[in-house]
Amino acid sequence: MIIHIPNTISLSVIEQVAEELEALYIVKPTHYVVVTSNSLHTLPASVSAIASQVWDMPTDMQLSARAYMAQTHRVEIGDTYIGGDQKNQLMIAGPCAVESREQIEQSCKMLKDLGIRVLRAGSYKPRTSPYTFRGLGEDGLKLLAEMRDKYGVQIATEMRDATHADKVIEYADIVQVGAKAMYDHGLLTAAGQCGKPVILKRGFGSSLQELVHAADFVMSCGNENVILCERGIRSFETQTRFTLDLCGVAWLKEHCNLPVILDPSHAMGYAYGVSDLARACTAMGIDGLLVETHPVPCQAKSDAAQQLSHTQFEEMYKSLAPIAAAVGKTLV
Ligand code: PEP
Ligand code: MN
Repeated sequence: MIIHIPNTISLSVIEQVAEELEALYIVKPTHYVVVTSNSLHTLPASVSAIASQVWDMPTDMQLSARAYMAQTHRVEIGDTYIGGDQKNQLMIAGPCAVESREQIEQSCKMLKDLGIRVLRAGSYKPRTSPYTFRGLGEDGLKLLAEMRDKYGVQIATEMRDATHADKVIEYADIVQVGAKAMYDHGLLTAAGQCGKPVILKRGFGSSLQELVHAADFVMSCGNENVILCERGIRSFETQTRFTLDLCGVAWLKEHCNLPVILDPSHAMGYAYGVSDLARACTAMGIDGLLVETHPVPCQAKSDAAQQLSHTQFEEMYKSLAPIAAAVGKTLV
């Protein structure tokens, strides 16, 4: 159940209500939002008396549900936004990882020339094998910050675990929680308290319900700037790296009040399919695309097979605008 209580009521009363109902609460400028488990269906008279609005939620998908807030949350990214009136599709692009100043600067220049606002690159890479490149750590974050200062781009980068969450939050404009970290409640809490937009990637073995519950974790810590990212789930198919769940995207658009972006690069796992998938995703009227591109893909230290060359990326990017326009979106 979600209960709105006006802020004319004192915080100490809200604390008592939260204790009595075993609920969480969020303090907003005009009101408090108290959220109980969805098993509660009737309120004590003392709480009903001070509530301004009450939603009896059928599941524990609560703060992220359209049944609570019909409009998609507007998430501000630099001088633009996604969600809200649903006009924009944001392009987020860059290499899998920051590898060197030259590599990240070439990537950044290419994006800047195309008018793309958000540079993505990981500096703490969650690798499957311990013997592979795991990122430049804080040195990579410093290179990303340099790119922001020099080229005015926004930086999206991933926090892999709690050991460096504070550093990533300090440097990033958009904090990414990766597929393998979707269940890490320490990271979800840090993301919920960071005050910056969060890209929450769906675990490749996670149901849609689990994804939205993870989003509710972040939101229940007070951060509503959550962007859901479908990046492929594991199916019986082994010819492609993962299977991009477009049905799941349609479900999220229908039931969830958060912007949804898609990552065709990790889903496909091979550069040859990424451009077609990016166009198919755009035709779904999504809020954003996240695509990996590297100046010399075959030399990439991680995810080499799936990264588009800059020429391939540019060709793909230029083909998106008419598709976006056909579904009422503008590329930003
Ligand atoms: C990434 O974006 O580079 C990444 C590691 O993605 P995922 O968490 O989806 O595997
Ligand atoms: Mn990658």
